Order: sequence, then structure tokens, then C-alpha cells
Amino acid sequence: MIEIKDLHKSYQMGSNTLHVLKGINFNVEAGELVAIMGSSGSGKSTLLNILGMLDVADTGSYVLDGVPIENMNETKAAQYRNKFLGFVFQSFNLINYKTAQENVALPLYYQRVSRKVRNEKALEYLDQVGLKPWATHLPSELSGGQKQRVAIARAMAAEPKVLLADEPTGALDSKTSYEVMDLIQQINDKGNTILVVTHEPDIAEMCKRVVILKDGVIVEDKKVNQKRASAYVQ
Ligand code: ADP
Ligand code: MG
Repeated sequence: MIEIKDLHKSYQMGSNTLHVLKGINFNVEAGELVAIMGSSGSGKSTLLNILGMLDVADTGSYVLDGVPIENMNETKAAQYRNKFLGFVFQSFNLINYKTAQENVALPLYYQRVSRKVRNEKALEYLDQVGLKPWATHLPSELSGGQKQRVAIARAMAAEPKVLLADEPTGALDSKTSYEVMDLIQQINDKGNTILVVTHEPDIAEMCKRVVILKDGVIVEDKKVNQKRASAYVQ
């Protein structure tokens, strides 16, 4: 699903160059649930943003579902992003003046799905994350965990090939974090490929594979015995 080879990325800060990714190699198969770990500043978000086509690498190759991601203009990149990728962020990134249902329907609007169909689909996806009764509520009326579930429903509504989550539990307490991980595991159980950036070991243990970044390279890449989040949620 994802093949990256010798990926490098630097940031120019005045006369200083910050070399963040120094040759990253890894592949992700369809259906994997991968945690990307590393200390703050180790380049986790940089890597995820490149995988999510929100940013581009300086050198190296990236093939997503058989498509080489290179030299794409912004229009083409946006098309692929909408078609292939779903995003979840620590800060939810919901639109404050839109209801839960309208937020979930938004990616479908960009896919030119008719209003009737996108409203129906949005409600279906809200139902899947247990929030159908909250469809007409604004984000400000939802708890942090509920907001993240809306964000996950929004990411999944576009039926992406890969779901990318950057510290999805970073703003949540433990119990709520496990509820969100339970949902992520359920989505992965259906065969969806998911990458989760986290610096919390208990969250990483709920994935199936852990990749550790340090000093710009992958220092560890191991399969884990997945802990089920549902065991921690009542
Ligand atoms: P992580 O997500 O692991 O905390 P990041 O990928 O966000 O790390 O950042 C890696 C390093 O690159 C950090 O030192 C950060 O300050 C720097 N960095 C990230 N984005 C930029 C940018 N747009 N311009 C300059 N430096 C950046
Ligand atoms: Mg980060």
C-alpha cells in the first residue's frame, strides 16, 4: 500500500539546515495498523505529512497504492489526497460553525457527491462511531472524545485507502484515548490501513506494529502483540 525508499527532508532555517528525515525506508501492507513513535521533534509529523501528501520530500521515492507520488501539481495532489487519504489530528480540526453531520459530509462535497447522498452517508458514518443522536450538534457542544469520533467519521466518509492519524489521542484523557483507539481498531478490523503517530507506549501497544524514529532514521520496526482497547473501555 505504501512503499517509501530513502526519503530525506530538511528545513531551511535562515542559514541553518535542519535535516529531519535522513533516509527513511519502509513499506506498509494493506490492512496494517502501524504506530509511529519517537520523541518530540523526531520528525513523526514531517513523515506523516509527506505520506499524506500535505508536504513533499526533498529526495527519495514514495509509491502509494501503486501510484508514484512525485512531481504532482497541487490540483493533482489534492485529487489523490481526497481519493486515497483520510486525516485525523490531535486538535480534531472540525469546522466550528458546522454541525457534526455537516463536518462529516464535507469530504463528500469535495468528491461532488449530491447533497442528499452526502447527508445520508454522513449520518451513516456518524452512526458507526456511535454519534447519530449528535448529528445536529456543533463541535462546541461535544466532548473531546466525541469530537475525535466525528473527525474519524469525517476521515472515513471519503472511504480512503489509508487513514493517517497524528497523535489522535494527544488531547484526550486515558479512558477517552482508549475509546478512540477502540474505534481505530474496529476500523482496522474491517481491513483499513491505518498509521497512528503517538508518543504514548500504551497507545502504540494497541497497534500491530511499532516503528520508532530517532535522529532522522528508523531505529526499530517490530510487530507487537496487539492489546485490545475494548478491554480498557467500559
Ligand atoms: P514530531 O512530530 O516528531 O514532534 P516534527 O516532524 O513536527 O516532529 O518536527 C521535526 C523537526 O522539524 C522539529 O525540530 C521541528 O521544529 C522542525 N520543523 C517541523 N516543521 C518545520 C517547518 N515547517 N519549518 C522549519 N522547521 C520545522
Ligand atoms: Mg508531531
